[in-house]
Amino acid sequence: MSEFFNPRLASLSAYTPGEQPRDKQYIKLNTNESPFPPAPEVIKRVTEEALGTLRLYCDPTATALKNALASRYGVKAENVFVANGSDDILNFAFLAFGQSGVAFPDISYGFYEVFAHFHGIPFEKIPLQEDFTVRKDDYFGKEKMVCIANPNAPTGIALSLSDTEDIVSRNPSRVVLIDEAYVDFGAQSCVSLTQKYKNLLCVGTFSKSRSMAGGRLGFAIASKELITDLEKIKYSQNPYNVNTLTQLLGVATLENDGYYKENCQKIISARRYTEKALCALGFTVLPSKANFVFAKSERISGKELYLRLKEKGILVRHFDAPRIEAFNRITVGTQEQMELLVAKITDILAE
Ligand SMILES: *Cc1c(COP(=O)(O)O)cnc(C)c1O
Repeated sequence: MSEFFNPRLASLSAYTPGEQPRDKQYIKLNTNESPFPPAPEVIKRVTEEALGTLRLYCDPTATALKNALASRYGVKAENVFVANGSDDILNFAFLAFGQSGVAFPDISYGFYEVFAHFHGIPFEKIPLQEDFTVRKDDYFGKEKMVCIANPNAPTGIALSLSDTEDIVSRNPSRVVLIDEAYVDFGAQSCVSLTQKYKNLLCVGTFSKSRSMAGGRLGFAIASKELITDLEKIKYSQNPYNVNTLTQLLGVATLENDGYYKENCQKIISARRYTEKALCALGFTVLPSKANFVFAKSERISGKELYLRLKEKGILVRHFDAPRIEAFNRITVGTQEQMELLVAKITDILAE
């Protein structure tokens, strides 16, 4: 750290991304990326002509992309916001709506706490129940912003649409942000509720189910008023936050929805296989609606299993955090990758 750094920022604890090692070829089951490449039609859009347009600034209004998202989700373009990954949207939302504080589950996406610290927002961590589910009543009448990942990470457990609606309707004077990074793997989206509740901010990403983690594209769907607020923040920070290629590929991705839906089905079926196989090995596996499973075994510690799998060329994610240190979060890859994972775990337990 230099002596020039703002002392307020020096004391922040930053988010720790999952490992992206370049030294060795690992089977990466640690950051919930898709094992499948973008659709062939998407890749073909990266033409010389498209690259030539990089000379110009990108469209700050992202009109084509917003229109495509609006028609995919059955809303108007004025109900859509796009940004450089959904992390960008979380950042904007905490800044825009967090002034009276924010509440989120004690076990959830690590970035919520990082953004709360960063923006100097007081936060309340609400404990998940013993079985790691959200108790909806704990979120009623909070008088602060509420932020919930659905399905939650790293547990994979989903909220029903009616529970989500209850949380939204019981906090009419504050924004309820539902982070739907994993919703395409089997949970119920709350997008339809954005027509009814002006305080609901539904956030999505192209990073998980749409094979575009490196392209950085997130979106939000909400009332026109909330979207206008987010636009104001964006135009005060970085009007060009979604680059030309990502806008282009985002539109192409939405035009190839069927390909991504099929991939989600493959992942759901590989998830079922993984859950069954791990249970047969004596693991406790939380009921997941995401592209990962959260699992622990009485026979080996979470840390030990993570390290042994890494030696064997498979990366999973271990969190050294209270209540969950016995678990590993394992991204669901292809069926073949999951069979290999199960074989390696079988070996480790036998050794
Ligand atoms: C991966 C993830 C995100 C971030 O996604 P990006 O769009 O890549 O920034 C947001 N929320 C949750 C819960 C995630 O797991």
